[in-house]
Amino acid sequence: MVSLVLVSHSRPLAEALVPLIREMATDEVAIAIAAGTGENRDAFGTDATDIMQAIASVDTGDGVLVLGDMGSALLSTDMALELLPDDLRSRTRLISAPFVEGALAAAIQASMGNAVDDVAREARQALAQKQQHVGDSDDAPDTEEGSAPDASPAVSEGAATGDSYDDAPEHTTEVELTNLHGLHARPAAQLVRTASQFSAVVTVKRLEDNRAPVSATSISSVSTLGARRGNRLQITARGPDAEEALQALSDLITHGFDDDTPATESGGATPQHEAPADRSTLPDDGAVAGLPVHAGTAVAPAARLHTALPDLPTTQNGSPEAEWAALQNALKLVQRDLRMQARRGARNVQGILEAQALLLEDDALLSAARTRITESDEPAPLAWARATEALAEEYASLGDAYMQARANDVRDVGRRVVLELLDDAADVVSLPDRPLILVADDLPPSVVPHLDPEQVRGVVCTGGNPTGHNAILLRGRGIPSVFGVGAALQHVDNNTLLGLDGGTGHVWVDPPPKRVEQLESKRRQADERTAVYLAEAHDPATTTDGTVVTVSANISHPSEAETAAERGAEGVGLLRTEFLFGDTPEPPSEEEQLEALKTVAAPFKKAPVTVRALDAGGDKPLPYLSFPDEANPFLGMRGIRVLLRHPELFRTQLRAVLRASASHNVRLMLPMVATLSEIRKTRSLLQSVRAALNHVGTLYAANIPVGIMVETPASAVAVAQLASHVDFFSIGTNDLVQYVMAADREHADLAALSDALHPPVLQLIRQVVEAAGDRPVSICGEAAADPEAIPVLVGLGIRNLSVNAEALPATKALIRALSLSDLTALAKRALVQDDAPEVRALAREALPAAFAPDEQ
Ligand code: PEP
Ligand code: MG
Repeated sequence: MVSLVLVSHSRPLAEALVPLIREMATDEVAIAIAAGTGENRDAFGTDATDIMQAIASVDTGDGVLVLGDMGSALLSTDMALELLPDDLRSRTRLISAPFVEGALAAAIQASMGNAVDDVAREARQALAQKQQHVGDSDDAPDTEEGSAPDASPAVSEGAATGDSYDDAPEHTTEVELTNLHGLHARPAAQLVRTASQFSAVVTVKRLEDNRAPVSATSISSVSTLGARRGNRLQITARGPDAEEALQALSDLITHGFDDDTPATESGGATPQHEAPADRSTLPDDGAVAGLPVHAGTAVAPAARLHTALPDLPTTQNGSPEAEWAALQNALKLVQRDLRMQARRGARNVQGILEAQALLLEDDALLSAARTRITESDEPAPLAWARATEALAEEYASLGDAYMQARANDVRDVGRRVVLELLDDAADVVSLPDRPLILVADDLPPSVVPHLDPEQVRGVVCTGGNPTGHNAILLRGRGIPSVFGVGAALQHVDNNTLLGLDGGTGHVWVDPPPKRVEQLESKRRQADERTAVYLAEAHDPATTTDGTVVTVSANISHPSEAETAAERGAEGVGLLRTEFLFGDTPEPPSEEEQLEALKTVAAPFKKAPVTVRALDAGGDKPLPYLSFPDEANPFLGMRGIRVLLRHPELFRTQLRAVLRASASHNVRLMLPMVATLSEIRKTRSLLQSVRAALNHVGTLYAANIPVGIMVETPASAVAVAQLASHVDFFSIGTNDLVQYVMAADREHADLAALSDALHPPVLQLIRQVVEAAGDRPVSICGEAAADPEAIPVLVGLGIRNLSVNAEALPATKALIRALSLSDLTALAKRALVQDDAPEVRALAREALPAAFAPDEQ
């Protein structure tokens, strides 16, 4: 497949083009960027070596097309071409096509598997649609046949064969466009891709205008049709598979295009995966299988996640023009955020977010809001809220589930823009004032701290993976939760009675009375056990044969610190500082960070509080840092890599941590370390921060311990070498497992692979313990709180666990019920099992009855 290289003076410009291209062409087309100059490529300019490397990086042997933005971009590309080996140069084309339109058209043609010169030709034609629309094509490049060597005919030849089939009989059909956006970018791209799968020559014409038919395999031609919902298309095909082509195209159109199906564009989207839970043990009373996220049972009426708006202003602040400008600005910001989240978010929400971003360009919606601002003098937030609500109601009134989902999309995106306009308005979660089980498609992590466990008795998500951050936060709140139940709960109404067992991952819609009774009695028993564990929570966790295991808390928000201390935490093993950085438009100040650290440390008196430096990137983007477009964010700019690239951000955090160390027992922990040089660089930055504090006479502890998370296989393997450079290690099994097993921790289909009990992971943990020498090793990933994992981990030599506040008393109680000699034998056997389910089966045998998970 032909690949693209985007050469621009401005890196942000080129980066912004990529998601736009991805809207229209499949992800299979490789795209590389060579843009900007300077160390971080943030100065304007182009660089021949970068261009050469970009070309080489996407070369598949099928050809590379280079699009440049202007002047020296082209000169640099000429130089780059000279530097290329002959064979690669011979299949690389620098083309004069317009940067944006050309790249879009080229990507679509490339995704259809066309040859490099065909792709180049289509790209060069890409201005045609704009010229035709604006009617100023006098200055346009001459596209008459003969004068431009690559001019494409209005109707292209048979896509696959090059035949024109002039003598073949003509087949015609007429279809009405029923999808929301008409032949908008993505549907147009789908039509072109479908047409190009056939060798027949296919043309399309919009019946409402009298222009000639255009080629159905040319995106720029199809886009010129300007076809909208309700328009009728006449499709004509000639050639051997003409009828099949017509059938495929009319199916595509009458089904509203794949892109408009709820699966990808719905606010209440169907997850892309079926629930992967083991259905063989499914109770036969209507249970739905999902993924256990946090144990506990609940029975309560459903409430769908809905976030409410604060009171909106009713009078305009400035002129209508200023209000309109503010709205446009907010739309742009929200659109940028949505696209950024879509790129970095869990796969099963990407389609939803991208579709929401598209809604922000919807002409009808924008002009309704504008009319309200200019003609009814409404301020921008009110105008936008009313315009989106009117559209949402229109969809909702159509009554079918698909349209209801569209209504949710519109409302959700409406709310985001209003919150952006109101600047500092908080995103308020509005839930009915009664006990409930919250039902969401994907629960934003930022919502979890707003949930009151007294009211929210359980959470069910149609998508999600138990190692995702929303799951981690739910455990911290102690809310029984099940993820990945799939479409079964997608249309459940508010108030429908639900039953949930977070331990087995089962959910019941309208559970039969017997099941209600069983779930409630199970909850009562669990409550009784919890009360016993809680009463002993401050006793040490000592095995029956005298080995002490330290159990500390994982904390993701200062509000959890007090509870963790009350529940027996012997310090904080992991303070995730992302809460400080996530939701604000600016990074937090040193003072804000210091205050938060003190709040967390206060309940722990002398016990150590391990502050993990900001772990941004991957699935945790930051609004104020621009992350490069990455095909694999988890393998990209994350953790320590981000910090070392943004020393000013890191320095501020280090100052806050050092200052907190003056009054509290604080330790610093680095996320995602892969090399010794990352530790060295951090230590030297820390030294310079100390010097700066000395300079102004600010107090801090002389030697705060500095440790690392062992999350990358590289750091796990290098522990013996790293041990002399750090004071402690903490194994982050959530990430370590994803990298060792090559299984995205957010991927609902790969939950079975995301298991720390797979023997290769256990081998690595044992090696870390052995290689660390006298450096303490703890585990702070979710495995540390898993009753089936704890016996194995302790058996492997782990003496420090860090778990969510909710799990503290039970974790300590379990350790007190185990004997180390049994666990050592168990760990030895675990290492040689085939896979995690086998290890789990062994571990279950070792568990005392009170801790054994029951199946139903
Ligand atoms: C881990 O990876 O195990 C970990 C504790 O870090 P996080 O879950 O915050 O990525
Ligand atoms: Mg991690």
